[in-house]
Amino acid sequence: MYYNIGVALVAKEAIKPEPTIKQRSEKISRCSNPDCKKHKQNKNYPDFKFCPTCGSPTESFVKEWEEKIEADFNIRDIFIENDIDEDEFFILYDDLHNLGKDAVLFISNEGDESHKVYGGYDDNTDNWKITPEIIPSAINSFKKRYAKPIELIEKNFKSIEIFFGVVPYIL
Ligand SMILES: [Zn+2]
Repeated sequence: MYYNIGVALVAKEAIKPEPTIKQRSEKISRCSNPDCKKHKQNKNYPDFKFCPTCGSPTESFVKEWEEKIEADFNIRDIFIENDIDEDEFFILYDDLHNLGKDAVLFISNEGDESHKVYGGYDDNTDNWKITPEIIPSAINSFKKRYAKPIELIEKNFKSIEIFFGVVPYIL
């Protein structure tokens, strides 16, 4: 487990492309009695001449239905299409945070260097004092640096939040 201390973005509720509807059909052999439960269920008896429930002869029938195929959605594909360099950040899928299906966390990949630019960092001791002034400065710098990916995330998720804090994650 790792911990990101600094700015993180949480995006929830992906706006996915509409699912495609596929017309499907299958030739079956069903009970011919309209009053029989098996007829209504379009139960397929490929090897039977008579319905095992009511004894009526079976009939050939073309069953038709619509199949909904959910579109694939992955923010990474959108970044690739838009020439976003993925080495600059981490996209984390929500295995830890119970944010809901399709939610992603987006954190900087500046590693140990990120906090040095926000002030409050002491080179001699390697300590970083997080003062109230540092927080808005870090958020602004994050928004500037990742303006392009953030814009794409905003377009593709219903809810986004950028905050300063601690985010546990696994890679
Ligand atoms: Zn029947």
